[in-house]
Amino acid sequence: MEVPELMASKVNTGDVVARMREIHGALDSFAQTKRTTAAGEVADGAGRTETWVASSDARLDKRQVSALRDGEVAVQGEGHAETTLLDAAVAAGKRLRTIAASWSICEDCAKKLLQAGVQILTKIR
Ligand SMILES: [Zn+2]
Repeated sequence: MEVPELMASKVNTGDVVARMREIHGALDSFAQTKRTTAAGEVADGAGRTETWVASSDARLDKRQVSALRDGEVAVQGEGHAETTLLDAAVAAGKRLRTIAASWSICEDCAKKLLQAGVQILTKIR
């Protein structure tokens, strides 16, 4: 299984940040201040990529799910949105390549993400 690197270089990191903002923006303005939305580019062994999206809530709000497009996947899980994405990718045998979050990423999450080789596209706390 070689392929991945060339495919991976096609990832448009600007899209991940823009989509994270749009999907976070599907929440009402109060929820936007209370929850974190994270989006990341996830690649499988063949280099196929999807954008996975998670919330600091256990699941995305239904308005956020409605805002998802083809190739975007809602991920569920307890805890910080960033580690929910990372853990889900690892559990699926896939690689989280990039991540963008609607709020500055905490030190614990940043450490885990960097150790896993994830490119962090937004601010770290
Ligand atoms: Zn965190």
